[in-house]
Amino acid sequence: MSKKLTTRDEDYSKWYNELVVKADLAENSAVRGCMVIKPYGYAIWEKIQAELDRMFKETGHQNAYFPLFIPKSLFEAEEKNAEGFAKECAIVTHYRLQNDPDRPGKLRVDPDAKLEEELIVRPTSEAIIWSTYKGWIQSYRDLPILVNQWANVVRWEMRTRLFLRTAEFLWQEGHTAHATKAEAIKEAELMNNVYATFVENFMAIPVIKGVKTDTERFAGAVETYCIEALMQDGKALQAGTSHFLGQNFSKAFDVKFATQEGTQEYVWATSWGVSTRLMGALIMTHSDDHGLVLPPNLAPNQVVIVPIYKNDEQLEEITTLVNVIVGELRSKGITVKFDDRTTFRPGAKFAQHELQGVPLRMAIGPKDLENGTVELARRDTMTKEVISIDNLTARVESLMTEIQTALYTKALDYRDSHMTEVNDFESFKTVLEEKGGFISAHWDGTAETEAKIKELTKATIRCIPMDNDTQSGDCVYTGKPSKRRVLFAKAY
Ligand code: AMP
Repeated sequence: MSKKLTTRDEDYSKWYNELVVKADLAENSAVRGCMVIKPYGYAIWEKIQAELDRMFKETGHQNAYFPLFIPKSLFEAEEKNAEGFAKECAIVTHYRLQNDPDRPGKLRVDPDAKLEEELIVRPTSEAIIWSTYKGWIQSYRDLPILVNQWANVVRWEMRTRLFLRTAEFLWQEGHTAHATKAEAIKEAELMNNVYATFVENFMAIPVIKGVKTDTERFAGAVETYCIEALMQDGKALQAGTSHFLGQNFSKAFDVKFATQEGTQEYVWATSWGVSTRLMGALIMTHSDDHGLVLPPNLAPNQVVIVPIYKNDEQLEEITTLVNVIVGELRSKGITVKFDDRTTFRPGAKFAQHELQGVPLRMAIGPKDLENGTVELARRDTMTKEVISIDNLTARVESLMTEIQTALYTKALDYRDSHMTEVNDFESFKTVLEEKGGFISAHWDGTAETEAKIKELTKATIRCIPMDNDTQSGDCVYTGKPSKRRVLFAKAY
């Protein structure tokens, strides 16, 4: 394995980029802002997908697939949405290349192959989906529609970073249609809660549930619900969003339904999504200066077994024992890999599994064979224990839960100790600079104050939390009346 990572203290951003590449998660590609997700990184994404997909289906949703391209006339139908994404989209104008007469052996765009109507590469799919729903919905009997799609989208981001913000990213987008406003709001809240449960229980990342301000709301939404997480450098990360879209898209695409009473009404809508950004959240929440740290729920291999031997005979003996151990662990649903590569020495294997965040490493050597023991090493705490083979399966099982819980608790402690209530602007600036994290402060509710604070400090309002805080006060910047505290932070 290559030499050590830059530490978080030295340069957090460099640490992150090095970790992503060295742990073999992803790398930059020939296309600016677009990444290659490598097999190990993709295996983690597949775990995220599988659990979310299960949760979506459990809440009544089905998967479908819609085109990558959106005709421009459809894209521009919902004006706010179009305006919001216009500045960062890719447009297909031609459909053919031809030999370039000026550069032998090279190609150029065929000027005669211009599309009659330009196609937008989807930055989000409301437009293509609502133009389709028009054909699916006639009466109240056709509702609700609860559909999700797993797809890639393109947003022409200028400042990109592996996983956190890329020009093309993978995500899921739910698009639902409802007969009533109340039902659509309930759906948007439900899916924000599904995201929160998933991110907390499965990814061991604590989140705050809230709604966005007018400025930060999704283009075309009436309300944007979100979950916000805190990274180890004190910056916030939007981990997921769920939008109540009102009747904005049904009006733009003229999607009406006959009610039970026989009247015609516009349909109510939601959309919701999480992306490969969650991989960034995972890395930045749990990892350390030695590399990735994975919660057992997301680890492609929860346990790796490394044999330590001097000759073939010893290896054979260890292998026989390992086969039994592997069988037992698998029967308990634990994913385990026997790293019997002969091309690497144990030290190199240890280093690789440490860098790649395998939750538990098991080492078995000749002494262990004699004593009926193995050595277990926890990745999160870097602690080791020697344990009798007889108790092994039960111990590994309980360690999986212990590690998952410990990671969540550690992240929660960090988040809680980086949540500061402030009441004046001087403290606001000091806390932001010296400590970072979330700042809970009063705000007068205006976009002007929000913009001014952002301009002066780079902090944005991450969300108006969903908790029941109703204590009024004075705005931290203008001193004007405020109904409740909101959360500010610098964010990714
Ligand atoms: P939105 O459609 O803007 O509400 O975003 C849906 C989800 O995708 C949210 O969880 C965002 O945090 C995430 N997201 C937005 N832009 C990007 C990007 N450029 N790269 C990765 N994830 C993104």
